[in-house]
Amino acid sequence: MKYYCKECQRRVKESTCKCGAPIITTLQEEEVRPFIQRLHKKTNDCRHLLSHCLSFVVIGLTIAIIGFLFYYLSFSRENVGGQIEYVVNTACSECWVSMVALIAGGVLFLVGAVLGIITGRKKRQILFDIENIRATSSLESKPVELIVVTWFKGIKKWIRHQIWLLKHKQPKA
Ligand SMILES: [Zn+2]
Repeated sequence: MKYYCKECQRRVKESTCKCGAPIITTLQEEEVRPFIQRLHKKTNDCRHLLSHCLSFVVIGLTIAIIGFLFYYLSFSRENVGGQIEYVVNTACSECWVSMVALIAGGVLFLVGAVLGIITGRKKRQILFDIENIRATSSLESKPVELIVVTWFKGIKKWIRHQIWLLKHKQPKA
């Protein structure tokens, strides 16, 4: 079971936080509001980091696309035994540019995507915990479900609602 540290808002498993403060499981009523405000500040930090991750993903994709273009440029027409064939010319500079661009773009894209997924999950966890703290004053942090599960539940709910609408639709007079 994880709890928030009342002093530094870390999520910790142990009975003592890294900052040295002992873990308290429940907040006093007057402590709830300032604590939630501090948690909201943390979600803002997550949002900033998420926008950086998105830039990484976009820049990475752009560089990778440029890499693909150079890859096509590095093909050359060659006469192999009387037949015209297109082969990759590994000695040309386009080929090297495409390699470097594909690797650099791919790494940027992956770093941005992975960091983005981790940060997005962290942000959702804090928002989920804020609701819980507001309702119960408890600092316990229950793990939030994966985003795909949330999407799946949302789609299921939407389909059920559509079926309900179809069943209860009034015939037009
Ligand atoms: Zn702490």
